[in-house]
Amino acid sequence: MTEKHGNLSITSENIFPVIKKWLYSDHDIFLRELISNACDAITKLKKLNVMGEFDLPEGYKPKVVVEVDPEKKTLKVIDNGIGMTAEEVDKYINQIAFSGATDFLNKFKDKDDKDQIIGHFGLGFYSAFMVADQVHIDSLSYQPGAVPVHWECDGGTDFSMRDGERDSFGTTITLFINEDCLEFCNEYRIRELINKYCAFMPTEIYLKVANAEPEYEEIKPEDKKDTDTVIETVHHEARTHEKTNDDGSKETVEDEPAHDMLKIVKRPVPLNDIHPLWTKTPSECTDEEYKDFYRKVFNDYREPLFWIHLNMDYPFNLKGILYFPKINSEYDSIEGTIKLYNNQVFVADNIKEVIPEFLMLLKGVIDCPDLPLNVSRSALQNDGFVKKISDYITKKVADKLIGLCKTDKENYEKYWDDISPFIKYGCLKDEKFCDKMNDYILFKDINDKYVTLPELLKKDEKKEEDAKDTDSKDETKTDETSDSKTEEAKTDGKAEDKKDDSAEEDKDKRKPIYYVTDVKQQGQYINLFKEQNMNAVILDRVIDTSFITQLESRNPDYKFLRIDADLTDSLKEDVDPESLKDDLDALTKLFRKDLNNDKLKVNVEKLKNKDTAAVLNISEESRRMQDMMKMYNVGGGMDPNMFPKDETLVLNVNHPLVSYLLKNPESENAEDFCKQIYDLAKLANEPLEPAEMAEFIKRSNKIMLELSK
Ligand code: ADP
Repeated sequence: MTEKHGNLSITSENIFPVIKKWLYSDHDIFLRELISNACDAITKLKKLNVMGEFDLPEGYKPKVVVEVDPEKKTLKVIDNGIGMTAEEVDKYINQIAFSGATDFLNKFKDKDDKDQIIGHFGLGFYSAFMVADQVHIDSLSYQPGAVPVHWECDGGTDFSMRDGERDSFGTTITLFINEDCLEFCNEYRIRELINKYCAFMPTEIYLKVANAEPEYEEIKPEDKKDTDTVIETVHHEARTHEKTNDDGSKETVEDEPAHDMLKIVKRPVPLNDIHPLWTKTPSECTDEEYKDFYRKVFNDYREPLFWIHLNMDYPFNLKGILYFPKINSEYDSIEGTIKLYNNQVFVADNIKEVIPEFLMLLKGVIDCPDLPLNVSRSALQNDGFVKKISDYITKKVADKLIGLCKTDKENYEKYWDDISPFIKYGCLKDEKFCDKMNDYILFKDINDKYVTLPELLKKDEKKEEDAKDTDSKDETKTDETSDSKTEEAKTDGKAEDKKDDSAEEDKDKRKPIYYVTDVKQQGQYINLFKEQNMNAVILDRVIDTSFITQLESRNPDYKFLRIDADLTDSLKEDVDPESLKDDLDALTKLFRKDLNNDKLKVNVEKLKNKDTAAVLNISEESRRMQDMMKMYNVGGGMDPNMFPKDETLVLNVNHPLVSYLLKNPESENAEDFCKQIYDLAKLANEPLEPAEMAEFIKRSNKIMLELSK
């Protein structure tokens, strides 16, 4: 071929400065582009072979070699793929075959888009100019009689092309690294990049350092392969040691007999895994392989709890593995990584357009060859297909969790504390997920058992009914499966409500689910509940307040009530409120006076538990409002007291002290008793303020002193 010079036909003259400028932040991506071109070239050749259009030579081993030469400041990417003829170089490289650089430029004007898109504009090869002053291509096409071609370009818009020297099919791309980017002829940096971008590419990738001292290893003669270069045969003498017998005599024992080994040039080891675990069918993979893969990919030496292997061909191709990591405590920061691949080529971590946000707390890999990466990220966001992928992933995760809950409840319970933050966060972020998971969310109850919502609703109803019917305290056994019983529960709930709402037409018809936020603090209530065979669940995580609000908004038939929010009917005797009216008036007057609080809300009841003089009920709404304010307003701003707690002091007229006060409101001890009763009731809900506490201690001592007289 005669030498050819020419202009690269790019629509914009200044494509190189653009590439350099906009892609500067991740200009290491050039290596991924060149290596994936090399892998593609090999895949194409293998396809031709399968189609019978080309016979691969005997012993053909597809491979990509990356060779760094720190002295010459070059980096080569060498493949034994399909190669290019001069015409092809002209077509694919000289006339940059993409819809137009202008298009590219327009898309890249949007600063946020300076990401992974370069390879998908047919500009992959040119990304080499981000780090190189000059690039050479040496290629020989697989076609019979093809002439090798040499192409070079210095990053301007001029190139030159002539016959080349390459004597086996394939392509060598040589980068003359520019002074600012010399890191790219450093072996370790390149190794790091190959690990980052090419760890799972489908062709073996080797790293070589030019002029490096050869490395050797010894192998057994029987392990020799045809490809091994034998340097010499090394004779090893037998290895022995002297042993002293029981009778004191000495003996020479042979540990290893004399043998010959072959010294060979160290076999090169590929840096990548061409069959990553996600490409296999789940039934082929062992637990150990999953754990191993997790360790390697995420450098996390803690074992994952469990994993979900995604594998589908229809309606789109998607494979991947999602791991649920183990969390040590609530305060562990949960930082996940979902690595996205396109045909085993790494695209990026945590692409939020494809991966549902709450799943980013997990660790995992997703390979989606169908992903339309030839569009910008902002377009990805509005892409219906991408939304489908994201929905599919969410659905699969929910299915897996539900399956686990149904078939392996024991492990599901074991994992629950670790996985619940993901699930709760997921429920907050994704209503569909929330609805799907609704019946499979576990709650730890005050008896340290895990129960689902349907179980809980069912259980409480049974107990309430039993309590009503027989007033017995027998433990009601429930062994329903976790399958949806909500419907049933809901209907039952309505039927029961009918019985007791005749007096108050507007009574809240929602079924209450009681919960505890602090097992120690609310211990007194827990005891009351246990006595009546009532159940309550423990919700002591920060996320729980928002989480239950979300559940309530999706389930209008029940409401969550903290155990101290009101007194459930089963804790009190069924009496006509009219009969207590006089007591109520008298006690309200007395307590308001003695506590010096004329707004105090008082109620009287006949509690079944005769040892409790009073409880303080704090309305659920006002308490949640305060909790929310505390959570979002840490360290200042609004005063939580702006929304005062809506509290009611419920006095138990069955308690002798309360009866005493009713009979002796003028007693000289009445004031102390009132205050003490109030403080004790309050202590069962929350700690006293320092001044209140000081007063409480003083008064307690005074009362004890009275007793000692
Ligand atoms: P893309 O890979 O997105 O098509 P590139 O600029 O990276 O864009 O490459 C342009 C074309 O050049 C490729 O489609 C391919 O036909 C050809 N090419 C690039 N590298 C090689 C290679 N190593 N072997 C054979 N052909 C190659």
